[in-house]
Amino acid sequence: MLLSDIKNTAKGTVLENELMSKHTSYGIGGKVLAYIRPYDRYELIKIINLINEDNSEFYFVGSGSNLLVNDKKINAYIITPAKALKSFSVKNNVIMAESGVMLGKIVKEAIKHSLTGLESLVGVPGTLGGALMMNAGAWGEEISNYLVSVEVISYNGKIKTLYPSDIEFNYRYSSFKSNEFILSAKFKLTKTNDEEIKSKKLIASRGRKSSQPLKFRSAGSVFKNPHSRLAAGLLIDKAGLKGTKRGDAEISEHHANFFINHGYAKAADIASLIKLSRKTIYEKFGIMLELEIKTIGFNNSELYPNA
Ligand SMILES: Cc1cc2nc3c(=O)[nH]c(=O)nc-3n(C[C@H](O)[C@H](O)[C@H](O)COP(=O)(O)OP(=O)(O)OC[C@H]3O[C@@H](n4cnc5c(N)ncnc54)[C@H](O)[C@@H]3O)c2cc1C
Repeated sequence: MLLSDIKNTAKGTVLENELMSKHTSYGIGGKVLAYIRPYDRYELIKIINLINEDNSEFYFVGSGSNLLVNDKKINAYIITPAKALKSFSVKNNVIMAESGVMLGKIVKEAIKHSLTGLESLVGVPGTLGGALMMNAGAWGEEISNYLVSVEVISYNGKIKTLYPSDIEFNYRYSSFKSNEFILSAKFKLTKTNDEEIKSKKLIASRGRKSSQPLKFRSAGSVFKNPHSRLAAGLLIDKAGLKGTKRGDAEISEHHANFFINHGYAKAADIASLIKLSRKTIYEKFGIMLELEIKTIGFNNSELYPNA
C-alpha cells in the first residue's frame, strides 16, 4: 500500500489524515491522506516517484499563506519543503536557498549582507518555493527579477536546472508546471549602501502595516488586480462589499481584497464571499475577477457565480 511504502521510505515526517487547517494562514482546510515533509531531496524524489507510480493525487505546498483548502476530506497527498529543505548560503552577491527556506529569512540575510533588491518583499509570508511559484512581489519588485537559476524535480523524478529564459514570469504568475517541485534557487543581488536598503525596507513595511489587516488570519490578496492601474480591492470597495460577512469570514474593512477569518470561518464562507464579489463586480463593472489565491478541493460551482 502506498502510505506504508511512503512511511517505510521516509525518515522525514508523514502525518496521516492531517488537517490542512494546521498548515494554512487562513486556518482553514480539511483532512488530506497525508501531509509529508521529506527529510532531504533524495527522499523527496523517492516519495514523488512512489506517488506517481501509484497514480495518486498530490499537491506541492509551501507554508499555505496563499491557499484556500476545502473543509471536506481531500483524497490527495501533500508534499512540502517547509521546515525541511532549508539549505541556505550567501557567497559574493549570490544567494542560494532551498525551497523550504522562508522568504523572510532570505530578505533578512540579503539586508544583512548589504544586498539590495528584495527588501520591498519584507513581510511577505511564505517559503521560497511558494514565492517563486506565485512570483511574489510588493512595491514594484518581484522575486523573479533577481533569479539566476532554479532547480526543479520534474514529473519523472529527475532534477533539472531552469534559467529565467526557460520560465515565463508575470504579475503573480509563473509557468512552472503543477507537477514540478521547486527545489532550490539562486539569486544575484547588488551591493549597495545600507541607508538605501533601510529606507526601501521602511517604506515597504510601513506601507504594509498601514494598508493590510495584519491582526487577522488571511491569505493576502484574494483576487489579482485586473490591470496595473485598477486594483481588485478598489472594485470590491466601490461595489459596497467591505465588511460583508459570511459566518466568521469577512471582507476586510481595512483592505477590501483581504478576506479575513475571525476564528471559526469555514472554507464555504470564504468561497461564498468569493462568489459574491465576482457576481457583484461582474454586474457592476463587467469584469470577472481572477483568483490570486490558489485553491485545493473546490469545483467551479463553489467559486464562480452561475457555474
Ligand atoms: C498577510 C499576508 C500578506 C501577503 N502579502 C503578499 C504580498 O505583498 N505579495 C505577494 O506576492 N503575496 C503576498 N501574500 C501571499 C503569499 O504570502 C505569497 O503568495 C507567498 O509567496 C506564498 O508562499 P507559500 O510558501 O505560503 O505558498 P503556498 O501558499 O503554500 O503555495 C502557493 C502556490 O505555490 C505552490 N508551491 C508552493 N511551494 C512549492 C514548491 N516547492 N514547488 C512547487 N510548487 C509550490 C503551491 O502549489 C501553490 O500553488 C500575502 C499573504 C498573507 C497571508
